[in-house]
Amino acid sequence: MNIHKVEGAFHQDGRGRFVFSDAPFLIYWEITRACDLACRHCRAEAVAQRNPMELSTSEAKGLLEKIREFGDRTPHLVLTGGDPLKRPDFSYILDYGDRLGLRMSVAPSGTYALTREVFQLFWASGVESVALSLDGSSREKHDGFRGTPGCFDWTVEAARLAKEEGLALQINTLVTAETVEDIPEIHRLVSGLGLMRWSLFYLIQVGRGQGLREITPDQCERLHHWLYDISKEAPFIVATTEAPHFRRVAFRRMREEGIPMARIFKTPVGRGFGIRDGNGIMFVSHTGEVYPSGFLPVAAGNVRRAHIAEIYRKSEVFKQVRQTTLFKGRCGSCEFKAICGGSRARAFAAYGDYMAEDPACSYQPGKKSCLINRCKEAENGSLNFPFLHIG
Ligand code: SF4
Repeated sequence: MNIHKVEGAFHQDGRGRFVFSDAPFLIYWEITRACDLACRHCRAEAVAQRNPMELSTSEAKGLLEKIREFGDRTPHLVLTGGDPLKRPDFSYILDYGDRLGLRMSVAPSGTYALTREVFQLFWASGVESVALSLDGSSREKHDGFRGTPGCFDWTVEAARLAKEEGLALQINTLVTAETVEDIPEIHRLVSGLGLMRWSLFYLIQVGRGQGLREITPDQCERLHHWLYDISKEAPFIVATTEAPHFRRVAFRRMREEGIPMARIFKTPVGRGFGIRDGNGIMFVSHTGEVYPSGFLPVAAGNVRRAHIAEIYRKSEVFKQVRQTTLFKGRCGSCEFKAICGGSRARAFAAYGDYMAEDPACSYQPGKKSCLINRCKEAENGSLNFPFLHIG
């Protein structure tokens, strides 16, 4: 199979099996920007006080009802911030979402407010999982990043309480030039927390993150390989955020190991193929603005004025970012663009163009196509791929 056939098997002119134009898998809703922490990388540039322009309780209810109207495949809702606990009506929002039958996760800030009663409330409200952040392997490193002494201990204790109260646990870890050397130690730390997923977020230079440095493409590539290696032994899912090129590395490694395509597509990384900013993912801000992701600040509409499903399906921004045929630079000519597609947010942060190439990726399209020439199952389209959830 030549390189063009490989590309065709994966993306089918931008309208193929990896294009999710009907509904996202995940909706991130920043229910408030208020937060007591002052993290150095904060996308939201969160502040202590709530914004009076936040969606009201009644607007929040309306949004939850609209999310339910996406249809049979209702997206999973991640309630984030700021710190969601800063909203006095948070428990009401959770309860209302639960009564509508929504699948929900919560991403609270690691503060003293995360008591056992909070996790009991999450469990009683049908929350499936809790995401906490650990960006350093020690008090000194983590608290230094989060800008608040005590944050490390609160977070580790919160992880323990979440597990004890029966909630699935995700740990998010920031990858920057400042944290990358600490990643193996952080891995050792999170391995003892009984987590369900470890997600590494590769810095996008937006918000306060503009003051930090990204890792180089070469470091990125080496980190991807290391993550693939540990993922084979880890009792939890290893995932990346804003680094979809991990899929290219994992895919190639699995093919080199002789893993059949059918099995690859059932792995956590395979189930996430194609999912990226605006294609399977959407973000709603505290004031109702809708973006392809929280790190791509190009508004596609506002839930105060339009139905969230209409914005996802019909806005120009969302339609564009799903069109792999319109990608530029290396992403535009890449045979992996359907399953990867690069971070649209990083392209925008680097070039002011969300259709440009992802500068964190070191791959030169076309040079190593022989490694995926055995993808016969994908080529003839005989597989029935299970698009379940982001990996
Ligand atoms: S060139 Fe772009 S599409 Fe290809 S692997 Fe890199 S980031 Fe992904």
